[in-house]
Amino acid sequence: MAGKIRITEKFKTIQGEGPLLGRPSYFIRVWGCNLHCSWCDSKHSWEFGMKEAKLETVDSLVEDILRLYDETNIRNIVFTGGEPMLFKDKIAEVIGKVNDSLPGILIPMNFTIESNGEIIPENDEFFMSNVLFSLSTIGGCRFNIQCQYDPGVGRTWSSLLSEIRVG
Ligand code: SF4
Repeated sequence: MAGKIRITEKFKTIQGEGPLLGRPSYFIRVWGCNLHCSWCDSKHSWEFGMKEAKLETVDSLVEDILRLYDETNIRNIVFTGGEPMLFKDKIAEVIGKVNDSLPGILIPMNFTIESNGEIIPENDEFFMSNVLFSLSTIGGCRFNIQCQYDPGVGRTWSSLLSEIRVG
């Protein structure tokens, strides 16, 4: 398995949440999760489906993303799971190689990593600015760390909770 990412599924769809809501996107769902939440709506990405999941190399994922960009102009790539940060080094390679292959494009590719927040290298600015945390699993401590890397957020965990309670 060294050098490869185990993929549950890949599909084109419209992003349904976050700052890129409504944009055509390509979802790459990895297989495997370090948390086994009872409420998980994606159990096929960690509890079931391992036999059907495919091992893919970094280069094959890069080719896939570039081909899709050529054919459809989709520039929003979402790594989801399961927990994509289990493969963080490989995902960083994919992102680096895609960006290196498109040096002159006017609007850069967007990469989102949907994470449960448990495997975030706290001093890694690249990941901290590209990861979209799930509020269903993340705690206040991690949320506040993320805010330090994103001046646009401007909220603390406690202020967010009070807004949710009021709203
Ligand atoms: S962290 Fe997310 S993907 Fe993993 S078990 Fe929990 S809800 Fe499912």
